[in-house]
Amino acid sequence: MPLPKAELHLHIEGTLEPELAFALAERNGVTLPYADTEALRKAYLFEDLQSFLDLYYGLMAVLRTEADFEELADAYLARAAAQGVRHAEIFFDPQAHAARGVEIGTVVEGLGRALDRSRERHGITTRLIMCFLRDESAESAMETLEAAKPHLHRITGVGLDSAEVGHPPRKFAAVYEAAAALGLRRVAHAGEEGPAAYVTEALDVLGVERVDHGLRCVEDPDLVRRLVRERVPLTLCPLSNVRLRAVDVLKDHPLPQMMAAGLLCTVNSDDPAYFGGYVDDTFHAVREALGLGEDQLRELARNSFEAAFLDGSPEEEALRAAYLAEVEAYRFD
Ligand SMILES: [Zn+2]
Repeated sequence: MPLPKAELHLHIEGTLEPELAFALAERNGVTLPYADTEALRKAYLFEDLQSFLDLYYGLMAVLRTEADFEELADAYLARAAAQGVRHAEIFFDPQAHAARGVEIGTVVEGLGRALDRSRERHGITTRLIMCFLRDESAESAMETLEAAKPHLHRITGVGLDSAEVGHPPRKFAAVYEAAAALGLRRVAHAGEEGPAAYVTEALDVLGVERVDHGLRCVEDPDLVRRLVRERVPLTLCPLSNVRLRAVDVLKDHPLPQMMAAGLLCTVNSDDPAYFGGYVDDTFHAVREALGLGEDQLRELARNSFEAAFLDGSPEEEALRAAYLAEVEAYRFD
């Protein structure tokens, strides 16, 4: 039985497995430039960021209807349940779908249908976080927030993802301010390929409550002290860092040093279909490569529930307490 945990950094588009991609392509009359699922699976062994992004955005062509998004989310949740996930906060990229003529309502309502029955079917509570593509304009992000307004009952927060360098957080100051005014929670990818200064800017200018990745904070000791003091959670994705070359090999990942420094670290899968593992696979990989002990693994699981966007109501805090009790009671084999 896997360690109970929350997953807080997961792009639903990054859970598209080759088999489902082919099934949806057939249903929607989309021709994929691969002979079969085996050929596509080989393409998942990309060598660099550009070939990953080409594949990632290319395959999204198969996602067209509410039923497609529902099926995608349901497939992820089934896998997540088998990986010990009790609570999942799921990112989606509305602009990537709007660019193909798929409206945000189709995406949100499709995902929402799977999320609505997730607790009953998979034993997983869920949140939906809408991400802006940082290599698109600030105006486009604002239009996306506007288009999301009829669906906000399903959306807990906003995030910021895609190519980081050259697109500092401050570019999105206005849209984050508007999101906050709508009562949305705020996170952002920062300090993955971009510098530590982007982490500081995400905190100060965007008002984020959690930093996605944040790996390069270690280059700024003052920032590390601040993140520790303010207990700002970091959603780390070690397998993604290796595949996208943020670190050379897993055994060089700074996770143990970051935990030792007192940072509130969590471990997540990012785009698991592409990066070689779902979240419990990631826990096993870091345990093996970095020699993490049971106390450290338990700390990572505890942190994930502490950092989750449960809403502070008595009911949700009772849920958090129940999840934390499960972590404490867990026995490693
Ligand atoms: Zn990510």
